[in-house]
Amino acid sequence: MKESTQQHSAQFEWAVIGAGPAGIATIGRLLDAGVNGKSIAWIDPHFTVGDFGRKWHSVSSNTRVGLFIKFLNECKSFHYEQCTEKFELHEMDQLKTCELSCMVAPLKWVTDQLREQVVCIQEHASALKSHKSLAHAHVGTLRWRVR
Ligand SMILES: Cc1cc2nc3c(=O)[nH]c(=O)nc-3n(C[C@H](O)[C@H](O)[C@H](O)COP(=O)(O)OP(=O)(O)OC[C@H]3O[C@@H](n4cnc5c(N)ncnc54)[C@H](O)[C@@H]3O)c2cc1C
Repeated sequence: MKESTQQHSAQFEWAVIGAGPAGIATIGRLLDAGVNGKSIAWIDPHFTVGDFGRKWHSVSSNTRVGLFIKFLNECKSFHYEQCTEKFELHEMDQLKTCELSCMVAPLKWVTDQLREQVVCIQEHASALKSHKSLAHAHVGTLRWRVR
């Protein structure tokens, strides 16, 4: 269901801005709650797990491995039980912490699953008052422009 933003004006019931851990969790919760993926615009210029994925690879986590794994299995829409990748995370002691990089690859895998279920807009979003935009989405009374 990936969509190019170059196409046309579109309105969505839901707009989730950012594809870091918070955005991933939000999309998972919405889909698990039965929200139609076609009504969700997920907006991020990168879709590479946010700052978590881009900046903090070599930083030691303060989260234990077991809690990271729990997160991955938390939402049905993550489809994590279907994952056949041999991620390093699953070879580790669940009671210990790890480098954040160990969680990035599983989160990217989950991102890719979610991207198939909602409308993805690979752009930067900014709030706007006018309706003259390529694509916009309601958040309460707000509209968002993607460029
Ligand atoms: C040293 C260090 C150690 C850490 N250790 C842990 C740990 O052990 N466990 C843990 O859970 N967390 C840890 N974190 C924190 C973790 O990195 C952050 O909590 C996490 O990245 C926050 O996720 P987020 O989705 O809120 O934001 P981000 O990861 O910052 O993602 C935000 C996303 O939104 C996008 N975005 C922003 N503005 C717009 C816009 N206008 N339009 C479209 N897209 C937009 C950005 O491109 C980005 O992709 C650590 C952080 C640091 C610095």
